[in-house]
Amino acid sequence: MPATDRARLARLLAAEQERYTADHPRSRELFEAGGNLFGRVPMTWMNKWSGGFPLYLDHARGNRITDVDGHTYVDFALGDTGAMAGHSPVPTTTAVARRMGELGGITTMLPSEDAQWVGEELTRRFGMPLWSFTLSATDANRWAVRLARLATGRSKILVFAYCYHGSVDETFAIPGPDGTTVSRPGNVAPPVPLDLTTRAATWNDLASVERELAHGDVAAILTEPALTNIGIVLPEPGFLEGLRELATRYGALLMIDETHTFSAGWGGATREWALQPDIFVIGKSIGGGIPCGAYGISADVAAAVTRHTDAGDADIVDVGGVGGTLAGNALSTAAMRATLDEVLTEDAFAHMTSLAEAFTDGVRETLEAFDVPWSVSRLGARSEYRFARPAPRTGEESAAAHDDDIDAWMHLAMVNRGILMTPFHNMALMCPETTREDVDRHTEAFREVVGELYG
Ligand code: PMP
Repeated sequence: MPATDRARLARLLAAEQERYTADHPRSRELFEAGGNLFGRVPMTWMNKWSGGFPLYLDHARGNRITDVDGHTYVDFALGDTGAMAGHSPVPTTTAVARRMGELGGITTMLPSEDAQWVGEELTRRFGMPLWSFTLSATDANRWAVRLARLATGRSKILVFAYCYHGSVDETFAIPGPDGTTVSRPGNVAPPVPLDLTTRAATWNDLASVERELAHGDVAAILTEPALTNIGIVLPEPGFLEGLRELATRYGALLMIDETHTFSAGWGGATREWALQPDIFVIGKSIGGGIPCGAYGISADVAAAVTRHTDAGDADIVDVGGVGGTLAGNALSTAAMRATLDEVLTEDAFAHMTSLAEAFTDGVRETLEAFDVPWSVSRLGARSEYRFARPAPRTGEESAAAHDDDIDAWMHLAMVNRGILMTPFHNMALMCPETTREDVDRHTEAFREVVGELYG
């Protein structure tokens, strides 16, 4: 396998950095003026953008973003899935504007009819019979984890090394030495040692899952159907079926988080791969950019929770720790209805998926042409390249393949050529308005850039 020429990489990175700085004086100025914001940005993670300062948004529509320096980008980051429906899709903005203006009532503590429509639609797509709404996928995971503990009477959650499910305390865990569970590097001030709340296993390794479940204290396995937050790490044949079987055998619930893997299709990976979760979580995309999230539960989980609430030993109505004041508000339910009904349709997914196939083929051709030691993986409408060949099989392998310099260089090189990739990885997501020309533009830029290092 060819080695990466580090000296050449350093020169290329410096050149892209210089160009980025020169091309974005207004963004830089705004960043430097952001003194009242912690880290100078609205949320500290926005410093993840390469280049020393992020681009500042001027406006965005469909799959185009224009920054304050007047550059317009083909956006494959799409708010890292929050804008999977494209930026400001008209059906969503129309419904939202109507709810805010003509109808009125953004957040009232009252249910709206839209929520019922959305519940039926989520059942049609993902199969779970009963739904609750949240304002983020993080909240959906947090509240559903509580319900899983209540339903099973068990305390721990099983997660996979280098998973990400939002800022859920239980999930920042990796397997430690000798079958222990420890905090993953960088975890901010965990409230208790991770082994009190969590059992960590290795993706694509059913033996590691069984070893952890055998302790008999796992309430739920919480996982994405493919890891997507440490690059895309696809499940090997039989792995997800094995998880379902092990969960049932050891009395744990299977909790599937489809916040990102919804890209797999109209009904997510759950429908594409006929998964049978007990609890299903989604967020980000289904409101077309308006904050929302949802979790679906099976009839059995609902019955188990209800036994406790009827007995009075748990409270899901008042201050028991499930729910938020703004959850299920009329604005986010109107946004979800319009987005699901008119934007993220079956036709849209067919279009997005075929573009992701073309994107993946384009990347693969360049990787092969220059014998680049990287790999590319696709999950429906989402494609991602990773600096490792063959593609990593586990979260640990994928984490080990991370390379700060290649990562920064690739992101800057793409921005400098008018293409935005997700800052946390090299992920590209298609939206209904992405075109074949946009994909070809990436293919050409990718070939040019990669050729500079490996050609
Ligand atoms: N679950 C998964 C699988 C995610 O990728 C993310 C965010 N990247 C979340 C949950 C949390 O989403 P949010 O930050 O919108 O709450």
